[in-house]
Amino acid sequence: MPRKDHYRVVILGSGPAGLTAALYASRANLEPLVIEGGGGEDPTDVPGGQLMLTTDVDNYPGFPEGILGPELMAKFREQAERFGTEYTSGAVREVDFDRRPFVLTSTDGTLRAEALIIATGARARWLGLPEELEFRTRIGGVSACATCDGFFYKGKDVLVVGGGDTAMEEATFLTKFSPKVTVVHRRDTLRASKIMQERAQRNPKIGWIWDSVIEKILGGTGKGVTGARLKNVKTGETSEVEAGGIFMAIGHEPNTGPFRGKLEMDAGGYLITRPRTTETSVAGVFAAGDVADHRYRQAVTAAGSGCMAAIDAEKFLGEHLTENWDPLPAVRPSHG
Ligand code: NAP
Repeated sequence: MPRKDHYRVVILGSGPAGLTAALYASRANLEPLVIEGGGGEDPTDVPGGQLMLTTDVDNYPGFPEGILGPELMAKFREQAERFGTEYTSGAVREVDFDRRPFVLTSTDGTLRAEALIIATGARARWLGLPEELEFRTRIGGVSACATCDGFFYKGKDVLVVGGGDTAMEEATFLTKFSPKVTVVHRRDTLRASKIMQERAQRNPKIGWIWDSVIEKILGGTGKGVTGARLKNVKTGETSEVEAGGIFMAIGHEPNTGPFRGKLEMDAGGYLITRPRTTETSVAGVFAAGDVADHRYRQAVTAAGSGCMAAIDAEKFLGEHLTENWDPLPAVRPSHG
């Protein structure tokens, strides 16, 4: 349970964006509350965000030997806590954006916030096959992030499901490790941009299976994934293909359900921010990380935008505290 019922800054989400926002906001003496998220029906919806589902993170600067995703997030959390960030578990179900302070209804009750930073992230889309859950966290199994897990598929043939830019990018990336990468797409034309299509189609290690969907992931305990049973959606024929791993690249979904119809979003449901800021369509509400970014989606870019959101919130609060609310304390230098 949160210690107070009214905060200067409430941050939704505890991935790299949310925790970096918390670090900067707490360093600015804003005494933020982080609502950590998780606890939904999807087992991949966990506090700490998508890095909690990965193993080695080799591309976060400052860790030359690499670091495990969960360990990195524990460090983020500890660092923000050191400056007075308060954490509470649970997820926000509804926000009243019509007045300030904003009123948040979470699984724990209601809260008021002078400013809100939304860093609820995005989650990979999955096919919804029962075997996906079984193999998803295992090396040699099913993954939705080639950048995170590709290295572990060294020497193994893999499948990539999808026909968009992510599928092209992941397939191309995976050829660094895998002798053969086969893209399985449900249609006979790709959705991906021309340039990404051409790059993938020029790559001799990439093969293509068109008009097909995965009906079943094959494998077993101890062996991990061994292949898939495919169905041609035009002919109805089924076939089996061998593979040591399957990468789902069928898109991501931003976690913006509670904000639908209240904050401006693009067609994919990602929050729209004013260019070069983290300001959303409601004054005092800021967005950071993957919830507002379908392009870069990296921990380091999420962290960068979390920093921006805290600075934007701090500036906003300097000018817009609601009446009868205690003035901001003296601000420690927070930037740099
Ligand atoms: P996307 O464009 O939505 O493509 C998803 C693909 O998965 C589509 O080909 C879709 O098939 C397929 N798919 C969806 N649900 C499926 C299902 N249940 N079973 C089988 N296939 C399914 O998603 P994305 O590729 O992740 O890209 C998202 C956005 O990020 C796009 O705007 C993209 O341009 C951008 N992006 C950019 C870059 C880059 O510029 N470097 C890299 C990655 C992503 P259909 O085609 O039949 O619908």
